[in-house]
Amino acid sequence: MATTMSAAVLYGREDVRIEQVPIPRAAKGELILRVDAALTCGTDLKVFRRGYHARMIVPPALFGHELAGTVVEVGEGVANFATGDRVVALNSAPCGECYFCRRGQENLCDDLLFNNGAYAEFIHIPARIVAKNTLHVPDDVPMEHAALTEPLACAVHGFEDSLPRTGDTVAVIGGGPLGLLILHVAALAGYEVIALVRHDGQVEAARRLGAAHVVQASSISKAIRETRALTQQNRGVDIAIEAVGVPDAWQEAVELVRKGGTVNFFGGCATGTHVALDTNRLHYNDITLRATFHHTPSICRKALNLIAGGRFQAGAFITGHAHLFELNRVFEKLMQRSSEIKTAILP
Ligand SMILES: [Zn+2]
Ligand SMILES: [Zn+2]
Repeated sequence: MATTMSAAVLYGREDVRIEQVPIPRAAKGELILRVDAALTCGTDLKVFRRGYHARMIVPPALFGHELAGTVVEVGEGVANFATGDRVVALNSAPCGECYFCRRGQENLCDDLLFNNGAYAEFIHIPARIVAKNTLHVPDDVPMEHAALTEPLACAVHGFEDSLPRTGDTVAVIGGGPLGLLILHVAALAGYEVIALVRHDGQVEAARRLGAAHVVQASSISKAIRETRALTQQNRGVDIAIEAVGVPDAWQEAVELVRKGGTVNFFGGCATGTHVALDTNRLHYNDITLRATFHHTPSICRKALNLIAGGRFQAGAFITGHAHLFELNRVFEKLMQRSSEIKTAILP
């Protein structure tokens, strides 16, 4: 058997190199997977552009975190998995012992263990992720669909955290992969969704994924007016979920909701960003502000069930395929804001 593999290594800003590195080996409690499909992600694109991620990755490092793969090596003591099993290994696992884990907020774990390295032929899965956040993929689910578990878990988390009530109208700002996932989750759950998108290619995708209305306005003030006009007496939406991660969109979200409405700041802005908000509007209109980060093990299971359930249009999110060696080109294309949603990277 070969001892080296091709893998993407992140060195810094817009500097990812495909290199030969040793194939990892499984120690006690660990797994080695052959990567069957890895997906590009807005977070990876951000990391590619900025050269780091505050919580997830410090270069030089293996790169990529949405994947499904086949078990090729099983460490001592692993009982639930065998060679040949098809699995999704999530990109993190909580400790289970800290204050936040004990309160069921495992996404905020003080010791969240992250794993990267999906853009490679093989990936090492640490014992804690094997124990807590590695899931069997049902036979009839294609691996590239299963690889959507991680971003979908974030989307499901963001939607549930917004505490939707039957009959609510939900506005989702942003037509990127996460915006589209959130709107699809909301539409599948039976909510009326208004998608606010920027680019032509996103209009069609939003409609296809279940948005009742798509607002594509040339300015933010127009988008706010058009969205409110879609609600009775212009009162505003019940829930606005921001999935862009820029200050303008955070402010826009606050302007979209009705009295008593809920805003979810789902998109993470660059470190050090501050946003100005109208305190009178927040206070006298009784507006709830929430923010959702990441996912928990139970939500990851929910996400994979949703993918396996048949109604979720996994195929619509994967708009291209590329070989690992083309990764740089793929990211450059994604930076140009094409109509691509996610590209499956096949090693
Ligand atoms: Zn991701
Ligand atoms: Zn913890």
